[in-house]
Amino acid sequence: MTDTRPGQITKVVIVGGGTAGWMAAAALSRLVAGGVSVTLVESEEIGTVGVGEATIPSLLDYNRMLGIDEDAFVRATGATFKLGIEFRDWRRLGEAYLHPFGTHGRDIDGVSFHQLWLRQAASGTPDPGPIGDYCLSSVAARRGRFTRPSANPQSVLSTLSYAFHFDAALYARFLRDMAEQDGVVRVEGRVVAVDRDAETGFIEAVRLEGDRRIEGELFVDCSGFRSLLLGETLDVSFTSWKQWLPCDRAWAVPSARQGPLTPYTRATADTAGWRWRIPLQHRVGNGYVYSSAHIDDDDAKQALLAGLDGAAQGEPRQLRFEAGRRERLWDRNCVAIGLSGGFLEPLESTSIHLIQSGITRLMSLFPDRGFGSAERDEYNRVMLREYEQVRDFIILHYHATERSDSPFWDHCRTMTVPESLLAKLGLWSGRARVFREQGELFTPDSWVAVLLGQGVRPDSFDPLTAGLPPSETARFMAHIRDMIDKTAAAMPMHEDFIAQHCAAP
Ligand code: FAD
Repeated sequence: MTDTRPGQITKVVIVGGGTAGWMAAAALSRLVAGGVSVTLVESEEIGTVGVGEATIPSLLDYNRMLGIDEDAFVRATGATFKLGIEFRDWRRLGEAYLHPFGTHGRDIDGVSFHQLWLRQAASGTPDPGPIGDYCLSSVAARRGRFTRPSANPQSVLSTLSYAFHFDAALYARFLRDMAEQDGVVRVEGRVVAVDRDAETGFIEAVRLEGDRRIEGELFVDCSGFRSLLLGETLDVSFTSWKQWLPCDRAWAVPSARQGPLTPYTRATADTAGWRWRIPLQHRVGNGYVYSSAHIDDDDAKQALLAGLDGAAQGEPRQLRFEAGRRERLWDRNCVAIGLSGGFLEPLESTSIHLIQSGITRLMSLFPDRGFGSAERDEYNRVMLREYEQVRDFIILHYHATERSDSPFWDHCRTMTVPESLLAKLGLWSGRARVFREQGELFTPDSWVAVLLGQGVRPDSFDPLTAGLPPSETARFMAHIRDMIDKTAAAMPMHEDFIAQHCAAP
């Protein structure tokens, strides 16, 4: 049934059918019932980037928004559950820490738990042990266990948080089925030209090989690194962040599953970048993200293959990129979502989150045909800020290192970081303060895990801790640690949980 108001957009065209394109299509398909046509153009010949298998907990919100049945999703995409990321060799060779999802301990009377932990660690009696012992996601991850969180805020299980590892191709297929069922029209073909209004520069249509033309009012550019509409056609420039994030290439290869299913991603720092290990139900995804200025391609490939813990399945595939983003993500009647808008390298698995963030913001600021500047400006303001916040968090991992065993790490350790990150580090270095800006993706718990994991110790802790007697605090902390230990021990093993809940019916 058509139910359009005057001025309402009636034709949306999405260019690209990778993760970004199909995530956008599945969400925008809601407009179809209101009389809006949503067309997605993709070219099988060009293909997709084919990586992007680790996510963060915000994906659960996207799945919920679309009414996705989680067990069906896990089954269809070969997914496993992810409780965090293990960072090996980032601070020093031979050291490891976990950045868990979920919270550490519990704040008391407005005092953050990490402040209590720091005071206890400073006094040393009793030694509180690693801060990770106070986070259920961290303890469960180390023991290979998983269960879903409890909705009861009194339960320690409510502090658990999780995301997924999945097969990107299967995920796109899963979303495609949903979107097509809801009325999105898929067109196979390569876009070879773009028609624009001579006066306004607005995009009017994309032209496909075979003399086909698809008209639209709003264009969503999901064309990947090439940025066919926003970059190539509308000429919105790219801001490079290579000076802070020098990795610009990756080799990726799947390997056979080996050993138990770890409910976390592993990121191992190497001489010129880092290697990922992402366990799926049917295989393991591996890659080496590296700086081509610091290692040659062949050596990087060999380092990847040498670090695999199962047999490689095929030849490694190379990907090239540059960290940064477009100066604007929405220009005229075109919004870039996914790699066409920017890329921040995969260290904290944030790309799919940024796709989701772009989609939900586009939906809440959905324009009329007049394309007033208010929606566009707000979209650009919040999205660009989010990219910068994520960038700073990723830079922290590289910069806060004690490694001096290669020119790459010397560069990262000594580089000048953005002012916004310096401000965060300044607050931390005095009394361990961490503030979360409105809309900021990473929580204080995430910053604390990475700062302490990378060995960035503050000078002191919050004076408010003085209001809490040390002996009482020690008892409280011991109680939390004990509860977490017992709860984790009672959780099912990760693969048993999958077999029990997400196996084919
Ligand atoms: P693509 O997958 O490249 O899709 C582009 C689409 O546009 C394709 O369908 C293509 O056919 C189409 N297209 C292009 N040109 C044309 C044309 N002329 N005509 C018609 N169609 C066209 N993200 C995470 O969240 N977690 C991770 O663990 C992670 N790991 C990554 C590792 C590496 C090394 C890299 C490079 C990226 C990683 N990412 C990760 C990012 C993630 O892969 C992407 O954000 C995600 O796959 C979305 O890609 P996309 O859809 O924007 O682009």
